[in-house]
Amino acid sequence: EVAVLRLGHRPGRDERMTTHVGLTARALGADRVLLPDNAGQSLETVADITERFGGPFAVELTDSTQGVVRGWEGKVVHLTMYGERVQDVEDAVRRAHHEDGDPLLIVVGAEKVPFDVYEEADWNVGVTNQPHSEVAGLAVFLDRLFEGRELEREWEGADRRVVPMETGKRVVSADEE
Ligand code: SAM
Repeated sequence: EVAVLRLGHRPGRDERMTTHVGLTARALGADRVLLPDNAGQSLETVADITERFGGPFAVELTDSTQGVVRGWEGKVVHLTMYGERVQDVEDAVRRAHHEDGDPLLIVVGAEKVPFDVYEEADWNVGVTNQPHSEVAGLAVFLDRLFEGRELEREWEGADRRVVPMETGKRVVSADEE
C-alpha cells in the first residue's frame, strides 16, 4: 500500500492545495490519502472525482495526523526541501516497498512541519533542495517510486473517460470504445 498524508490545513487558504495533494496522489498511483479533519471540503472534491473518473482510491480524514505517522506500520517518507536527495534514496525506498512489501506513508506539509516528523520519518527526502510545492514534490516522488508505471494504470468503476487527442476535448462514457 502507498498512502499519502497531508500534514496541516489552513481552511480557506489551503483548500486548493490540499485538494490537489489528494488528486495528485490518486492520479499518480497512491492507494489512499489521509487529510486533516478540517479539510472536509477537499475530501468531498477528491471523492467526487474518484466517483466520476474511477479508482480504486480512498480518501479519509484523521483527527491526529501526527498519530498516523507515529502509529504507521511500515516505512515513512517525509518530503522536505531539507532532506536527502531523492535520486540518492529512491532505490532504498523502492526496495522496502516492492521487495519487503512495507506499506509506505508519504508525508507532505503545508506550513511549518513539527520537528518530530523529521525524527519519526525513515527518510526525509528532497525533490531538489529548493523550496517549491507539496504537489510538485509528491508528483515527482510518486513517478520515481513507480518508475513511470503509474502512467499505464487502468481505472475501475469510472463513469467517464477522457479520450486522448491531439487537439480538442473528448470525454465519453467509460464503457464506450
Ligand atoms: N517552510 C515549511 C517548512 O519549513 O517546513 C514548508 C512549506 S512548503 C510550501 C510545503 C510542503 O511542500 C513541505 O512541507 C514539503 O512537504 C513540500 N516541499 C516543498 N519543497 C520541497 C522539496 N524541495 N522537496 C520535497 N518536498 C518539498
